Amino acid sequence: MDLPFPIDYEPEIDDPVFHDELGPWLPDEIFDFHSHIYREEDVSYTKREGRNPSMPVVCEYYPLENYQAAMQRLFPGKTLHALLFNTIDPNADMKAQNAYLAEATAGDERLHALMLCGLEEDQEALEAELRSGEFLGFKPYWSYVTHAKGTDQADVTLEDMVPPGQRELANRLGLIQMVHIPRLGRLADPVNVDGMIRVDFSMVQSWESCETLIELFGPDKILWGLDMPVAQEKGKLLSANGQRHFFTKRVHPWSIHNSAGSYKMRCTFYAYEIVRAFKVASERVGFTAADVEKVFLTNALGLVGKTRRQLGYE
Ligand SMILES: [Zn+2]
Repeated sequence: MDLPFPIDYEPEIDDPVFHDELGPWLPDEIFDFHSHIYREEDVSYTKREGRNPSMPVVCEYYPLENYQAAMQRLFPGKTLHALLFNTIDPNADMKAQNAYLAEATAGDERLHALMLCGLEEDQEALEAELRSGEFLGFKPYWSYVTHAKGTDQADVTLEDMVPPGQRELANRLGLIQMVHIPRLGRLADPVNVDGMIRVDFSMVQSWESCETLIELFGPDKILWGLDMPVAQEKGKLLSANGQRHFFTKRVHPWSIHNSAGSYKMRCTFYAYEIVRAFKVASERVGFTAADVEKVFLTNALGLVGKTRRQLGYE
């Protein structure tokens, strides 16, 4: 099939990054603990005003086939596992979004899925949908709160994002909850750090942040996630004067780019910058190959295996 978002692979730029720098350092098997796949028909792209304004939109259709083709191009020779969920849009058809994820990941033991649940608190209904799709847990998000309650994004707390009914069910069944950290301070906010058990560093491209993460949590509690399809972009996330900026090769309304084309950009994939930042931090703190394997594979395998057994899926 023609892929809606083909990968911008430039061998002379990208091959050295993977083959000389990242590939030999990564374990042979890797687990992407945070990426999105979705179908255009489940998300009402006409209602753009309801969409998450801070979520960069790189393509409107990103099915499993596109994700897998991109991952094979990015990480040639590696065995790939993934935890996937749909894209977040309070106006989307959430049932259809979840049904697509269940269908796309069924029958492949290396693919797992989280369910979108909005602010739903009916535990019986949530559990029935969860089990029917063999989901491992929920993907809450702050934009469901701002959309339903008009709360300002900066004021959304973890408690708002995961209402009591959801939290109770998740605790009772031992579910995974993939939380996008709210509040302006993000990881630096003590209110956030308090509520977390494990962290995933999807889209973190600064080695300083990775080093802080390692110091706070150690090798046993960190999970690696890419956040595809955004991680397929070429460029880098930059911090300038305390503000985060997306620098991209392609032209987007949410990024900094060189639209005049007056110089040639030799940037590589966000996906590689994410791994690269963690590699720098790992080397600085003296991570062993076993520590690296924990973060990129075995922590995720352990958590997924435990959750599946608790839910009686195997
Ligand atoms: Zn994401």
